[in-house]
Amino acid sequence: MHATDSPTSVPVLIVGGGLVGASLAIALDAAGCAATLVEAAAPRADAQPSYDERNLALARATVNGLSAIGVWQHIAERATPIRHIHVSRGGEFGSVRLDAERQGVDALGWTLPARELGAGLLRRLDECHRLTRLAPAKLMALESCADGWIAEIESPAGRQRIKAALVVGADGTQSFVRERIGIAAETYDYAQTLFVCTVTPERDHAQRAFERFTDDGPIALLPLSERRCGLVLTVSAEEADAVASMDDDAYIALAQRRFGWRLGRLSRPGRRFPYAIQRVAAERLIAPRAVLVGNAAQTVHPIGAQGFNLGLRDALTLAELIAQTNDPGDPALLRDYAERRAEDREGTMAMSHGLVRLACLPQPLLGPLRSLAMLAYDRVPPLQTLLARHGMGFRGKPPRAVLERLP
Ligand SMILES: Cc1cc2nc3c(=O)[nH]c(=O)nc-3n(C[C@H](O)[C@H](O)[C@H](O)COP(=O)(O)OP(=O)(O)OC[C@H]3O[C@@H](n4cnc5c(N)ncnc54)[C@H](O)[C@@H]3O)c2cc1C
Repeated sequence: MHATDSPTSVPVLIVGGGLVGASLAIALDAAGCAATLVEAAAPRADAQPSYDERNLALARATVNGLSAIGVWQHIAERATPIRHIHVSRGGEFGSVRLDAERQGVDALGWTLPARELGAGLLRRLDECHRLTRLAPAKLMALESCADGWIAEIESPAGRQRIKAALVVGADGTQSFVRERIGIAAETYDYAQTLFVCTVTPERDHAQRAFERFTDDGPIALLPLSERRCGLVLTVSAEEADAVASMDDDAYIALAQRRFGWRLGRLSRPGRRFPYAIQRVAAERLIAPRAVLVGNAAQTVHPIGAQGFNLGLRDALTLAELIAQTNDPGDPALLRDYAERRAEDREGTMAMSHGLVRLACLPQPLLGPLRSLAMLAYDRVPPLQTLLARHGMGFRGKPPRAVLERLP
């Protein structure tokens, strides 16, 4: 088809088939709604930029949601449950410990390499019947028209135009859709680089996840299969080149200094992957007949492990609302979406940003206050329950798909 031909009309055009866009496409198909998914990368787990070696901590609500849309069944056996979470700060006395049993659940969350989640999403996408997939295919232009948007898509087969009653921007942090639909974004550069790799600790991780804040930046250890752990180490941007060129022994020594000896000696570091970190928050979630989900709507610091968890709740809420209407671009539906997402979105963004800023600031006066706060969260049961509920992804008005199913 040529760009000059009259456009094909579709009800929903999802731009971006990353972790969130693919989940939305699957959720819509599962709800009986037709949609078109456009993804710039080829449909292979090794081609998609975010289906990579990062180890994702998936909140309990996320796993409920992925089960409800038939994705978890493809990946469950590769995931490792998180039964305990330990949060501490180097040099201070308080710590927070969350325990699945104390919260009456079998796991607070699960860890899984993004590559495995991506492969599971691709397998589930292959089962979708109402979905049209264009990949590799890139959105090149987007213009508004009377009752929707006209998108120009480029693929190896040529250019084509699609008219959509609703355009969904699921195209990540630097969202082209966000810019085209006229939504500004606020960016905060943490001036940090995050390194991701696997390590093998001397002691069994016993399904514990650790998060430790230090004056030099946070470090996290996530439990993985075969006794390995996913190590996430944050350094300032100016140290990044020096850390990237460290040999394995020097890198392990740095990680050990930051993390301490809770799991004994760390060894056998895998390949290191660097990520520059910024926070990007869209000013609004909706425009006429257009909506943002996932990183296009908000990109948060990975150390709080919230980005995909939050984005999936965007996707599942939107799918739930679209399934209840004949016009997916209805202004009332979009207002409803923005209203339903507000509390979760703002609370999770504030928590992620506040956690990094407060927990990493070295001011001596803050130390005792922080320790007391940590002790309170550790010892006062209602505070612990609240923290655990938020950590498990139950905040605000969650989509039905993530709620606990009674046996
Ligand atoms: C190191 C690291 C660790 C993390 N750990 C966690 C964690 O433990 N837990 C958690 O919940 N989150 C975590 N995250 C965050 C999580 O990875 C992201 O929130 C998530 O990947 C966002 O998914 P997305 O689909 O919104 O965006 P992306 O994954 O960025 O996908 C966007 C997609 O859009 C496509 N695209 C872009 N432009 C176009 C276009 N013009 N046309 C067509 N396609 C286009 C891209 O090819 C891409 O596939 C982590 C992030 C990092 C960097």
